[in-house]
Amino acid sequence: MSQRPGAILNALTIDLEDWAQSTLGAHLPITARVVRNTQRVLHLLTAHDVHATFFALGKVCERYPELLPMVAEAGHEIGTHGYGHELLYSITPARFREDLERSIDLIVRQIGRRPVSYRAPAFSITRDSLWAGPILAELGIRYSSSIFPIAGGRYGIPDAPRFPHRWPTCDLLEFPLTTVRRFGRNWPVCGGGYVRLLPYALVAGAIREVNRLRHPAVVYLHPYELDVTEVAELRRQGWPISRERYVHQSLFRGRVRGRLARLMTEFRFAPLTEVLAHE
Ligand SMILES: [Zn+2]
Repeated sequence: MSQRPGAILNALTIDLEDWAQSTLGAHLPITARVVRNTQRVLHLLTAHDVHATFFALGKVCERYPELLPMVAEAGHEIGTHGYGHELLYSITPARFREDLERSIDLIVRQIGRRPVSYRAPAFSITRDSLWAGPILAELGIRYSSSIFPIAGGRYGIPDAPRFPHRWPTCDLLEFPLTTVRRFGRNWPVCGGGYVRLLPYALVAGAIREVNRLRHPAVVYLHPYELDVTEVAELRRQGWPISRERYVHQSLFRGRVRGRLARLMTEFRFAPLTEVLAHE
């Protein structure tokens, strides 16, 4: 199936972060790989003439200040992923506000614009952290893509709405991460490890299914997913990576680039706020 002019616009979102720091431990240093990996993503998007939303992690942009201007210059939307990648349900509302303010200030300093969209680190808006919504709205965030409507081990609200909707407690439009419904449950398919590990037909089929219902889908990826040798190299250098994590995090990374390219050929994508403007 090829891309059709009248087809539904889906959101393409990139969480701009460094694998080691966001996966192995929030206290770990940011590696220079994030710069090279972001350039890889930018080249691929440019080649397909697609604009995306980059949810920038403050700590990464502070360490590599050339990064965010480069992404903004290429015409992509800049949202915030917070500053330190601390999971919301593990910190206090006061600490979250401080983290978010710090990330917003940094984005304003680096590209001269306030972000209006947000993604929680590791989708950590759960039942235990719904207090985050009003804080986001107070700080000028209008769009969030932070709730996974699944029964996940570390994240998810299983009975949350599956499609874009307003938060009941504040002026915020939520774009939940895309799922398919099977056997009475919602299943994750459209991002990160799911795009890497599941069969391509399942991922594309899910987007097609959601679009047939006249809803947009949201796809999320990270620059590091295009870095095929990262996990093996860091492990050899002595970073704390267990065998199990090595296998789970590096398996089939070589597929991701081709899959993202194919998705961009088969579906229409735009930044999150542009997609929600059509809602
Ligand atoms: Zn993240």
